[in-house]
Amino acid sequence: MEETSLPGAYQQRLDAIRAADQWRARREMQRHEDGTVTLEDGRRLINFSDNDYLGLSFHYAVVQAAQQAAAYYGTGAGAARLVTGSHPLYAELERALATFKGTEDALIFGSGYLMNMGVVPALVGAGDLILADKLIHASLVDAMRLSGADFIRFRHNDADHAKELLEKKRKDYQQCLILTEGVFSMDGDLPPLAELCTLAEAHDSLLLLDDAHGFGVLAEGKGTAAALGVTPKPYLLQLGTLSKALGAYGGYFCGSKAWVEYFIHHARTAIYTTALPPATLAAALAGLHVIQQAPERTAMPLTYARYFCENLGLPEPSSPIVPVMVGESDAAIHMANKLEDAGFLTIAIRPPTVPPGKARLRVTFSASHSRQQVDALIKAFEEHKLSYSQFG
Ligand SMILES: *Cc1c(COP(=O)(O)O)cnc(C)c1O
Repeated sequence: MEETSLPGAYQQRLDAIRAADQWRARREMQRHEDGTVTLEDGRRLINFSDNDYLGLSFHYAVVQAAQQAAAYYGTGAGAARLVTGSHPLYAELERALATFKGTEDALIFGSGYLMNMGVVPALVGAGDLILADKLIHASLVDAMRLSGADFIRFRHNDADHAKELLEKKRKDYQQCLILTEGVFSMDGDLPPLAELCTLAEAHDSLLLLDDAHGFGVLAEGKGTAAALGVTPKPYLLQLGTLSKALGAYGGYFCGSKAWVEYFIHHARTAIYTTALPPATLAAALAGLHVIQQAPERTAMPLTYARYFCENLGLPEPSSPIVPVMVGESDAAIHMANKLEDAGFLTIAIRPPTVPPGKARLRVTFSASHSRQQVDALIKAFEEHKLSYSQFG
């Protein structure tokens, strides 16, 4: 096909992105069972950049469950959940998830992104208020905009700021929804969940906890709420993904049966999209069984992260996500390239994904790593005297 440029305004937008050093490329990578990846040029690097925290995407029981489900039940779901796509594996997985999380029921969505895009607009709209942590994930930002509700951001993990805003604004609105994450995806820290629960209750609000990065990893896999000692509550909506620690794909809501029924009728992304393939559901179910049968696996990523930080004099991490703060985008890319030359994949995260001046290497640890691989990464950081800030 002929190489063409885009119509004027669109080409200008692309050019501006390139000029601002924010270009994104689709780099081909093949992931392997031993925590490594192969790049296009054939180089093999140790992978410290993905969210397969437990290595379940390669676990033999998980892979076998997916293979068998595809062989027995076909590769596609054929239709939406409410048409003919509600395979019995859905009910089995939802029961298992609810039991594991200690909630009454659960509802699976097509992905974490789809779930947020469905749940938030199902809860609030025009005349309602959203109060969101400054660092919530892009999918929640999009969901917030789609909802049509007014929204205000509170300073990251600052419950006092949230309180102040609630006291000032809550009375002007009908419904109010507070948004936070379990483990923040780019910073790896945890929210003041108990305080936010108290606020939600006192101000007649709902609290949505997106635990995409805590599920499977904290509290023997049960996630952030369990790790922080917060039990299920009627106003607390616990969401997460099957795509990260579980090694499969999809999003989950865990809560009361009544909320599940509400979302089946109000969350458009639970209705107007094709159901997940049975093999994906089978993989998630098998992954959950692995976690339940071998909870010690869930502790490994955080153990590695602590060991890494201890050795490099970084603050103690609360999760397997360690942000090594660098500052400017080009410095972060330079550092990632150096580490790549030394055999490690540690992706540089730059604006607009993170605020300007907050570029970083996002280093993540997995049960699929070996202690030797983590030691080698520590050595690479030391040998190259890579300069990073302890305090971001
Ligand atoms: C990854 C992520 C999502 C999206 O989940 P997918 O299943 O990948 O679509 C949503 N929220 C947070 C906080 C995430 O990190």
